[in-house]
Amino acid sequence: KLSKRLQAVAEEIIPQSVLADIGSDHAYLPCYCVLHNRIVSAIAGEVVEGPYQSAKTTVEQLHLEDKISVRKGDGLSVLAGGEADVITICGMGGALIRDILERGKGKLQGVQRLVLQPNIGAHNIRQWLIENGWELKKEQILKEDGKIYEILCAEKGNPMQPYGEQETAGVLMGPFLLPEKSTVFVEKWQHELKSLKMIYEQLNKAAETEETERKRQELLEKIALIEEALG
Ligand code: SAM
Repeated sequence: KLSKRLQAVAEEIIPQSVLADIGSDHAYLPCYCVLHNRIVSAIAGEVVEGPYQSAKTTVEQLHLEDKISVRKGDGLSVLAGGEADVITICGMGGALIRDILERGKGKLQGVQRLVLQPNIGAHNIRQWLIENGWELKKEQILKEDGKIYEILCAEKGNPMQPYGEQETAGVLMGPFLLPEKSTVFVEKWQHELKSLKMIYEQLNKAAETEETERKRQELLEKIALIEEALG
């Protein structure tokens, strides 16, 4: 059985597609999708030896070697161009997911959908999608075992489409999540506000330099943006 988080990711994968799950670790997601006939086949990519071995073990134990190819390598480098219809990158920071996409740009041709699940820093991904012509189609936020996760789905299209006038707040907080204001979303941003205010207090005690002044200004703007968004 998959975690609630990976279950939500699985539901966003195009039925009968070829999936590439990058940073697959134990390869639970591709195995689940094949076993439930959601996808035709999959590639599980891992850059670290330990998780690569555990992906191979899971696939062998389930006798899925003919459907799931486990490959060792950095990010999208494990893919041949045009090989995958859907790419999932889950359970990492948003900045790392963005870097994997950026370094692997050349492998994205033919990919129909990206399903990305950052643990933190989702704004890095939204900014990258805007700059690279991917349109955010759907966002989800959920809580499991006390942790809050976001899931972003994107397809090739008009990257500004979901943002409207609210680009800055939308990139930070999510153009779909923001108007929805779910309980989990409000909890996440109230927590974030508290941390930002604490950092602000610390900065106030720091020596007056151009650098601290600039940081203080930046923080104030971010705090105001979040407070306005939460209403
Ligand atoms: N995707 C699984 C999930 O969501 O449950 C596993 C998440 S695990 C926390 C992150 C995995 O990404 C680790 O196994 C790590 O080795 C792998 N990883 C990190 N950077 C990577 C990269 N550049 N290319 C491939 N895998 C990477």
